[in-house]
Amino acid sequence: TQWVYSFGAGHNEGRADMRNLLGGKGANLAEMASIGLPVPPGFTITTEVCTHFYANGKQYPAALKADVQAALVRVEEAVGLRFGDAAKPLLVSVRSGARVSMPGMMDTVLNLGLNDTTVEGLSAASGDARFAWDSYRRFIQMYGSVVLGVDHHRFEEIIEEVKLSRGVVEDTALSATDWREVAQGYQEMVAEVTGAPFPQDPEAQLWGAIGAVFESWMNQRAITYRRLNDIPAEWGTAVNVQAMVFGNMGEDCATGVCFTRDPSTGEDIFYGEYLVNAQGEDVVAGIRTPQPMSAARAKPGEKPMEQVMPEAYAELVRVREVLEKHYKDMQDIEFTVQQNKLYMLQTRNGKRTAAASLKIAVDMAREGLIDEREAVTRVHPASLDQLLHPTLDPKAPRKTLSKGLPASPGAACGAVVFSADEAEARAQKGESVILVRIETSPEDIHGMHAARGILTTRGGMTSHAAVVARGMGRPCVAGAGSITVDYSAQALMAGGNIIRAGETITLDGATGEVFIGPVAMIEPQLSGDFATLMEWADKVRRMRVRANAETPLDAETARKFGAEGIGLCRTEHMFFDPERIGAVRQMIVSETEEGRRTALAKLLPFQRDDFTALFRIMAGLPVTIRLLDPPLHEFLPHGEEEIAELAASLGVDALSMQRRASDLAEANPMLGHRGCRLGITFPEIYEMQARAIFEAAVAVAKETGKAPVPEIMIPLVMVKKELEITRAQVEKVAQEVFSETGTTIEYMVGTMIELPRAALTADKIAESADFFSFGTNDLTQTTFGLSRDDAGKFLPHYVERNILPKDPFVSIDPEGVGALVEIACEKGRGVKNGLKLGICGEHGGDPASVQFCETVGLDYVSCSPYRVPVARLAAAQAAL
Ligand code: ADP
Ligand code: MG
Ligand code: MG
Repeated sequence: TQWVYSFGAGHNEGRADMRNLLGGKGANLAEMASIGLPVPPGFTITTEVCTHFYANGKQYPAALKADVQAALVRVEEAVGLRFGDAAKPLLVSVRSGARVSMPGMMDTVLNLGLNDTTVEGLSAASGDARFAWDSYRRFIQMYGSVVLGVDHHRFEEIIEEVKLSRGVVEDTALSATDWREVAQGYQEMVAEVTGAPFPQDPEAQLWGAIGAVFESWMNQRAITYRRLNDIPAEWGTAVNVQAMVFGNMGEDCATGVCFTRDPSTGEDIFYGEYLVNAQGEDVVAGIRTPQPMSAARAKPGEKPMEQVMPEAYAELVRVREVLEKHYKDMQDIEFTVQQNKLYMLQTRNGKRTAAASLKIAVDMAREGLIDEREAVTRVHPASLDQLLHPTLDPKAPRKTLSKGLPASPGAACGAVVFSADEAEARAQKGESVILVRIETSPEDIHGMHAARGILTTRGGMTSHAAVVARGMGRPCVAGAGSITVDYSAQALMAGGNIIRAGETITLDGATGEVFIGPVAMIEPQLSGDFATLMEWADKVRRMRVRANAETPLDAETARKFGAEGIGLCRTEHMFFDPERIGAVRQMIVSETEEGRRTALAKLLPFQRDDFTALFRIMAGLPVTIRLLDPPLHEFLPHGEEEIAELAASLGVDALSMQRRASDLAEANPMLGHRGCRLGITFPEIYEMQARAIFEAAVAVAKETGKAPVPEIMIPLVMVKKELEITRAQVEKVAQEVFSETGTTIEYMVGTMIELPRAALTADKIAESADFFSFGTNDLTQTTFGLSRDDAGKFLPHYVERNILPKDPFVSIDPEGVGALVEIACEKGRGVKNGLKLGICGEHGGDPASVQFCETVGLDYVSCSPYRVPVARLAAAQAAL
């Protein structure tokens, strides 16, 4: 086995695609070196050594010592220095590097190889004593804290003491002698804390650092990070040992980190920071203020690298082009300039916001770096969500309440609520709410989902609230510490303002700002790059994308987002309107068919208008209308008082009304008198709905010349007979309306597959169905035997403990629910070739589920209007 791979100085044993073996950092250092970029030479100890280390009681492979020695000699020869040499010492950095970048791993140790002797050699060779002692004290500090575990405060105390005694504030004001004193103080302190002298032998230093990297793979921080991110412990980390280059040798030296394009907007501009006369993490450590890269981005008074170091900058610009051409993606790079010569120390694909990822994908396709199909794969469908949400109108007046962390983008405005249950209850009534919590926990998920936005007063960018909100695409401001929340008083306080439950606030998840009252918003930009990428996605996708919509507003939004029809119109949502609910209730409480028909006749014109509006908006596109589905009890008022009121309004006595209401109450309504069971016991309900649909369709056909294609969907079918009966009712009404109006239109009758029995007998059911639509919400409930309304209490716990890999209501469960879908598709199409198949329900907008739908060959997915672009992109990626 080869345990060590060299890179640089013309000897590159690794490549970018060897990241599993060499880790991301090592693989890309080798790749950069092999395409001719200036990379200081070094070598990578493979991840297999890490695996071996843990499999063998923390022993290295026998050959490792010799292999490292040989690789080190190669580096020595390449740079003309020797490790531990008193006159011309080679110094190295020791850097960890797993397959994926992983916080929790050992920090880099720089300047390794320095000791009381070599520091003098470095001083003499460079002619710069200050630089040599600065490097040495840095090394003792890094090695001391990272490898020997000495608290970093102990080092800072010593620097502070020396600065105080010299009367200086800035590190830069310290001289060679000062740094020598710091280095000596460090060594004494380390010896005192660890009980052993600071290691002077470079060889021992090297193995100490290598060991520390491998040990850090199993430290608690790394283990936790791996668990949260599904990274297997078997992967292991690699160790990179690399010749040092120095950004701290004077004014013609620098170090920096940057992105080849702006990672927040995607703009094609060099974006990042650098510091003159600095080393390693100085740029991010905040000791001095880093300066911008490009002159175009510099504010007055700033010293952009483009002006300060034009030669090195020009070289960096060239490197940037080489890298982007080579990797065909935006890169996040680390570099150092030593005496005006540029060295590359790291590159990787850069993390970016959704907006940047969209712009970069489209720009790169236009530049010819990638093709359109590749561009389509570059944007994560779920991230589009962020771009589709409204943002605050920059010109709108506002009154600031507080500021927290910009934890999840988008703006939201709504009434303050302090509990998840309250959020859910109010949202169900159609209210916009902002969930305000000190912090959130998995029990709050349902409320976070129901809320328009989330505000917490504690926790950071990776707090529960932040992570979950980003995942859900909900705007979130986290850790707004100036706000005090008083749950018992149902109020929040900040800077002398008191906001009570029910009062409106506005969040800007992109800036972290919180405002009192509503702030005007602007709709998202759906033109430009977004439209372009969607167009490319539409070219490659096979499945159609429809929306779940009942109201004209939803239908219009859906069209704007590119929906190609309605996949689910839930007619019961139309019954709650105050104008109609009276007639609905009258129908429900009538004990005779005649009574019900009288009430239904009042509803007919309303329903007809509903469908007319939808057909007009959908202009000839298919519209799937589900006939009444929920148990009738849901429409009745609750509580004695309200029931008495209803009784009075209908002119019946309160007692019999009370009895009727309790007759209708069910122990388990989800599996009770609902779906087509209603249509079978009260055929007049479905007849009225069918009439409304056909009359509306005929009217719109006449009015616009574009005949809509209603797809009438019968819910909760468990046996074929149910579909036969209800289908016959619908067909009868169709014939009546066609002969009354003298116009015939095309239509379909199909069913929702949402019960396991229906899926398993889909061949029988298909004989009476023109289409199937998988109602995977109910199918998930009935397959798992898991009530969606009650699962919130334990499901998060299941997901957290990995008893279930994902919430099956969010992402389709391929093994169980998916298997039923697959069976139903096969059986259905076995009987009826070309049987139209679709999915409605939450899963239609979930990228992983959309991928599943592609595999089983569905014709379309249907999802909520705002998710339509997500589904379009996901469908395209699934087809590629
Ligand atoms: P991280 O993974 O935390 O970014 P790195 O291993 O990339 O850690 O090292 C951090 C920084 O240390 C680099 O960005 C670079 O500035 C500096 N560094 C690492 N190796 C060298 C080297 N051989 N010469 C000079 N500076 C180095
Ligand atoms: Mg680090
Ligand atoms: Mg780095």
